[in-house]
Amino acid sequence: MSNATAYPHLLAPLELGHVTLKNRVLMGSMHVGLEDQKGPLKKLAAYFARRAEGDVGLIVTGGIAPNREGWTKPFAGKLSNRVEVWQHRYVTDAVHEAGGRIAMQILHAGRYAYHPLAVAPSPLKSPISLFRPRALSRRGVGRTIQAFATCARRAQEAGYDGVEIMGSEGYLINQFIAARTNKRTDEWGGDYEHRIRFPLAVVRAVRDAVGPDFIIIYRLSMLDLMEGGSSWDEVVTLGKRVEEAGASILNTGIGWHEARVPTIATMVPPAAFTWVTGRLKGEVSLPLVTSNRINMPDVAERVLASGDADMISMARPFLADPDWVLKAKQDRVDEINTCIACNQACLDHIFRNRRCSCLVNPLACHETEWKIYPVTRRRDVAVVGAGPAGLSCATLAASRGHRVTLYEAAPAIGGQFNMARRIPGKEEFDHTLRYFQRQLELTGVTVKLGHRVTPDELAAAGHELVVLATGVHPRRIELPGVDHEMVRTYVDVLQGDAPVGARVAIIGAGGIGFDVAEYLLHGTGHDAREDPERARDRFFADWGIDTTLARRGGLQPPRREPPAREITLCQRSAGKLGAGLGKTTGWIHRTALKRQGVVMLPECRYERIDDRGLHLTVGGAPQVLEVDNVILCAGQVPRRELHEPLRARGVEVHLIGGADVAAELDAKRAIAQGARVASEI
Ligand code: FAD
Ligand code: NAP
Ligand code: SF4
Repeated sequence: MSNATAYPHLLAPLELGHVTLKNRVLMGSMHVGLEDQKGPLKKLAAYFARRAEGDVGLIVTGGIAPNREGWTKPFAGKLSNRVEVWQHRYVTDAVHEAGGRIAMQILHAGRYAYHPLAVAPSPLKSPISLFRPRALSRRGVGRTIQAFATCARRAQEAGYDGVEIMGSEGYLINQFIAARTNKRTDEWGGDYEHRIRFPLAVVRAVRDAVGPDFIIIYRLSMLDLMEGGSSWDEVVTLGKRVEEAGASILNTGIGWHEARVPTIATMVPPAAFTWVTGRLKGEVSLPLVTSNRINMPDVAERVLASGDADMISMARPFLADPDWVLKAKQDRVDEINTCIACNQACLDHIFRNRRCSCLVNPLACHETEWKIYPVTRRRDVAVVGAGPAGLSCATLAASRGHRVTLYEAAPAIGGQFNMARRIPGKEEFDHTLRYFQRQLELTGVTVKLGHRVTPDELAAAGHELVVLATGVHPRRIELPGVDHEMVRTYVDVLQGDAPVGARVAIIGAGGIGFDVAEYLLHGTGHDAREDPERARDRFFADWGIDTTLARRGGLQPPRREPPAREITLCQRSAGKLGAGLGKTTGWIHRTALKRQGVVMLPECRYERIDDRGLHLTVGGAPQVLEVDNVILCAGQVPRRELHEPLRARGVEVHLIGGADVAAELDAKRAIAQGARVASEI
């Protein structure tokens, strides 16, 4: 093991017998939407090759079905015939040319399939698909095992270094293992011994098909987080039997997709589940891979050094930064563009059938279409506003060769991210600010903080073009009593530290209304961050995760404590509150607030605010919310007072982020728009 690095465990090679992996970093399987394209998989190839250039030890593709029944959705990626072998060759060749290694994940969706051909051990509909699966016949079970083996053989023909058999997350194999989804009475159902016949038959058939010199990773559901899931003893038994059946590596699966416990969202503490993998250490002799919410080298190194695992799997961090491993190797960790686990541009896109990208790296998954070229003519560019849009634009424009000055009225960079980072569970937004700070230094941007720039100054400075990234103002609403002393805006609370009483009404239930509620429920200690150990314990207790592993599925009743405040969240429209929040995270925010007693009121008509509180009608019925404070989170309007005066002086002006359009603005659009303008000027 090398001592010349701060990450000796992470960067140590891993011997697998016939092959040596160059480090302990596995790029975990993640569907990005490029797998399902027709013809040669050139875009997928470019995406993976870029990560291979960044020195990842082993890449695992997103799930590829072994047959049509196993598709996650109609015409999803599949590998079962020669034409598909040819399509995948582009991927393996590109990765190997870049010096990497790649395994293909074989995923059979079972009852999670979103199409009418779905099959499962038993005809039980899942809560996350509209389609009731057909029960596999006994011959059908045999054909499915054969399909896994054929798929693995085809993967080998296509040049992959191995396969990962997806045995977790509630997909087909997991459905055979769990009594709740396997009600069969033949040899493939019944007691645990019979229910695990299917995964073991799959592993054996795959090993027989590919021979000894081929990596087989088995993704083992170590913590189902489902009622009636496997007990820990059963998990250990299966791990041992999978090893005997011929697997080379065991990877960790945490939680079925239908589980109502967050496993990868921002509010899940870093490396929150690696102790589960650690419990399997010593029970099997295969290398163990651990995963979930590991996004920086120090966290990964700590996990490996503690002995919990032999390898770290990360998926989203490689969307955020393809050079993650290289930067760790070269002691450039402060240059890592860290995944902040927001899911906004990756999983939320996939769930809407859109191609993945990344909030902090909009170039991800667009490697063949969005190229950044050095400038042919250096220009003097002013960027006004150092929020996400301005930071993205200024750093990329400077990296292309422009001379860039960034003006910011506040004493620090970050814009609204300085409020977002105060929300419990969004602490990792700090990483994005750290990343941009370092990029400003590396690209030589001249930064003028505490400098509210005026049109005259900009015109006089002789900039050839000005990019306005001045963000937003909170929306003022027309309501009698809106100037009452009990009224606050979210900016007063999150930036101005305005005092807030014990009973609160929030007007507006968008992302910021939800965040303000979460902030107030944790007490307003402001930058006093919770101790990481306490945060982990609180997370496990709040979400009912049994860390003793004494109970099936790893679940226990969630803890209930009296909330710090009485909060009522109001919106004018009908329907559930927070409907516009991310598909993969909205339910988490709603569940967390409801558990803490937050009352959610749709169909509100606000009448007035006075000493008694907020007067309103709810679904037509009059009510008074007797509160200490009313907090306005009623959306935002663009801040662009510089725009017309600059245009009147003949200056070339571009608008980005909130300064351009405030409606439905988020950091994803702000950063992407900043990068787009920077790549075109
Ligand atoms: P801003 O971030 O508003 O930055 C504008 C900057 O311009 C400010 O720093 C301002 O001081 C500066 N400025 C204005 N006028 C001048 C001038 N004349 N001279 C110099 N400087 C000037 N988005 C997400 O995608 N995901 C989230 O989870 C999320 N959570 C959030 C939580 C909270 C509590 C808040 C408040 C916002 C959250 N957002 C989130 C929204 C996100 O922060 C914004 O969409 C994003 O910051 C908009 O970026 P921007 O660069 O357009 O504007
Ligand atoms: P928002 O999502 O547009 O929500 C604004 C809220 O104010 C809505 O509930 C709206 O609901 C209400 N509203 C609008 N006009 C009003 C008026 N005149 N009077 C009273 N109520 C009014 O905006 P936001 O919460 O300010 O968030 C800003 C952006 O930041 C969002 O686009 C969001 O994507 C982003 N953000 C994202 C996250 C995240 O976790 N992903 C978190 C925070 C912020 P009604 O019209 O029904 O009353
Ligand atoms: Fe990570 Fe968010 Fe990027 Fe997804 S979109 S990779 S969660 S930073």
